[in-house]
Amino acid sequence: MPQPENANLLKHLEALVGERNPFTTPGPLEQAAGYIAHQFQSMGLAVSREEVPFEGITSHNIFGSKEGTDPSAGTFILGAHYDSVEGTPGADDNASAIAALLEVARCLEGTSVKGSILFTAFTLEEYGFIGSRQMAARVKESGEFISGMISLEMLGYRTREPGSQTYPPYIPADQYPDTGDFIAVVGNEPSQSLALGLADALKQTTPELGVEKLVLPGRGDEFVEVRLSDHCSFWEHDFKAAMLTDTAFFRNPHYHQATDTLETLDIDFIREITTGLVEYLKAPKV
Ligand SMILES: [Zn+2]
Repeated sequence: MPQPENANLLKHLEALVGERNPFTTPGPLEQAAGYIAHQFQSMGLAVSREEVPFEGITSHNIFGSKEGTDPSAGTFILGAHYDSVEGTPGADDNASAIAALLEVARCLEGTSVKGSILFTAFTLEEYGFIGSRQMAARVKESGEFISGMISLEMLGYRTREPGSQTYPPYIPADQYPDTGDFIAVVGNEPSQSLALGLADALKQTTPELGVEKLVLPGRGDEFVEVRLSDHCSFWEHDFKAAMLTDTAFFRNPHYHQATDTLETLDIDFIREITTGLVEYLKAPKV
């Protein structure tokens, strides 16, 4: 099986980094959608798009589907948003995660999987998870069996500086590192085994990678800061879902700034995470 490569991640980042906003820079947002669709196609995935209307404009969720060998195993969704807020090149948020998404798809191209995998690039996350909300409501309504979902939310910022990591007030900070050099897996109670299985795969493939886990009680409804990505759209419909993240503004000073550039990213970090995701998706434990 091919292994994730820095050169491919960098190629995707170079193609994607730059403001991708539906209102201020719709052209680059659409170009990013086209790039993602083209990459999915070149990896042998069945590509489709879903229109997402919002405040007078239309943008798209982009899907690349890899069929599993056992229809009863359902579909696992690996998703990341590709839009950005106004005024930022959005390198960590969220080109880093789209680069990982594309590289996972490439590495799994020749591998047969039991359950189907739906690689998904969401639009309009930055306006309240509009793209993922539409999709989650649609799949709930259809009754389709979604075995689990992972939201990739900012995977590229790592620092070895002590004191660089902060936490929301309800997280016992004394039980977690104060250096921002780990990747975090966030699940809720129904998604506990998914979150732990993902953390195990990350640890197994890169033992030196710092991996921290947080499993919220119940559906996780009260924990606003760790709901800020597309996994929460799936939590709201009681699907099993987890977020994989560098913790965004709890670590990265460039969050939603003009300085969220390619130069601030740690490509080795993204590659290590990608390697773990490939391992997990070969046979997802949910
Ligand atoms: Zn984001």
